Amino acid sequence: MRPFKLVSRDYKAEDTVIKIEGPGRPVFVGQGYCTNIAGSCAVESPEQYLELAQILKASGANMLRGGLFKPRTSPYSFQGMGREGLQILDEARRITGLPVVTEIMDLHDIDCLYDHVDVFQVGSRNMQNYSLLDALGRVNKPVLLKRGLSATIEEWLLAAEYLLSGGNWQVILCERGIRTFETYTRNTVDIGAVVMAKELSHLPVIVDPSHATGKWRMVTPVAAAAIAAGADGLMVEVHQDPDRALSDGKQSLTPENYLQLLSRIEAIAQLQNKLIQH
Ligand code: PEP
Ligand code: MN
Repeated sequence: MRPFKLVSRDYKAEDTVIKIEGPGRPVFVGQGYCTNIAGSCAVESPEQYLELAQILKASGANMLRGGLFKPRTSPYSFQGMGREGLQILDEARRITGLPVVTEIMDLHDIDCLYDHVDVFQVGSRNMQNYSLLDALGRVNKPVLLKRGLSATIEEWLLAAEYLLSGGNWQVILCERGIRTFETYTRNTVDIGAVVMAKELSHLPVIVDPSHATGKWRMVTPVAAAAIAAGADGLMVEVHQDPDRALSDGKQSLTPENYLQLLSRIEAIAQLQNKLIQH
């Protein structure tokens, strides 16, 4: 048997579909759906985030992203609004009816985030934070589990196993590029890992083409490749003014570019028999 058990196709052959009960209509991830998650890297201010949230809702995004707790390489970089931004997420959910996903870095934040978010994101840097995974295994809320910066597919699936074995089966895997010798791109996007993870596991697999490339011009082509390879959706960074973004502006699409991305993937999703939810 595989080292991961509950996560494997041997244990459960049919695709798992995650139902996200947001403030409005439920959103589905997996199997016959192509799910579009979009938002800025970080929640920057009420004005910035609420304007963007409305634009994204009108564009056809199914779920909003936005970090409050940002894992930054430098302690001098913008660290996110933290708890102060929770009301902004509430308001974004209320005015758009869309569910939100935000990163949790510390298991002690579960309680304070619980009523404000629809999906907990475990970032790359925390993929092997086993006490965080243990704690999220005991909550009744979906988890978006990013692949670690240099995690093998097996390590990634074993990280998911922590969640399932703790009792939480609502897990979405997210490929976001891995670290290689290449320097022209921020990470090396591993499209093969999408195919392999879907073969090995029944869990849905989405792709984050923003962190995978680090360059906005590469985001739409890589997004198209991901959907063509069978990914169940995308998580994309969008900002209304990328040059002034407080983090990851270089890889952020403008709302106009995001509309182009959505129209580019529509036909590809159809070929894959995947429904884009509107
Ligand atoms: C993010 O999505 O906000 C993020 C920090 O990404 P990653 O964990 O993939 O680096
Ligand atoms: Mn980012």
